[in-house]
Amino acid sequence: MALNLLMLGPPGAGKGTQAERFAQSRGIPKISTGDILREAVQTGTEIGLRAKAIMDRGELVNDEVMIGIVRERLEKKDAANGFVLDGFPRTVAQAAALDGIMAGRDPLIVVDIMVPEEELVRRLSSRMICRSCGHNAPMGHGPVCALCGGELIQRTDDSESVVIDRLKVYHGQSEPLVEYYRVRPTFRAINGAQSPDQVAADLAAAIAAVCAHATRLPGVGTAAPSGVQP
Ligand code: AMP
Repeated sequence: MALNLLMLGPPGAGKGTQAERFAQSRGIPKISTGDILREAVQTGTEIGLRAKAIMDRGELVNDEVMIGIVRERLEKKDAANGFVLDGFPRTVAQAAALDGIMAGRDPLIVVDIMVPEEELVRRLSSRMICRSCGHNAPMGHGPVCALCGGELIQRTDDSESVVIDRLKVYHGQSEPLVEYYRVRPTFRAINGAQSPDQVAADLAAAIAAVCAHATRLPGVGTAAPSGVQP
């Protein structure tokens, strides 16, 4: 069964960090829509130029654009044996479109990373990101990325006022996704307010439990139905 993993959770929950670790350990691509958009902004593509102001305000880029980006990315060969999606879907319309894109593929494994609000604000306003590879690091870890040596900078949307707006957007538009996916047997929630190593261990255990259960679901392992329903 392909590991088609989707990470849910508010900004600052650690989705990116855990997605990166998990993808690397399993040899599957991490697909972060935030990284894709930031790269488009840096290279100055049409999508990047349109997305920049929206991202700087902490709002969401429109569904049609995001669905197009993800559809195209998931069609690439390297995603055939699994992937980790980070930052998509962020609306119920994106989730419904993703179910369509996933038709005929193994089911999505959905993990929600839960972290209390005060901890999110603290983490976001003190995190740095690598300009070259997108790796996240808390402030105070020096001026260069531990992975690639690139320059560490603060994200323009990690200022305190934008962080508060991003959390509002999360509660209004993205949190309903938890209810959208919770009814599926492939959904798990984990505690993100722990050390990154402990979260990674809980994530691996949650995924192993889903896989053990999912192989007993009808259709899995052959041609799985789109997004397994209970
Ligand atoms: P992230 O790195 O996931 O926090 O994303 C940074 C910003 O990119 C978000 O605040 C949005 O403006 C935009 N973005 C990323 N993913 C999506 C998405 N799936 N839908 C809409 N906007 C997105």
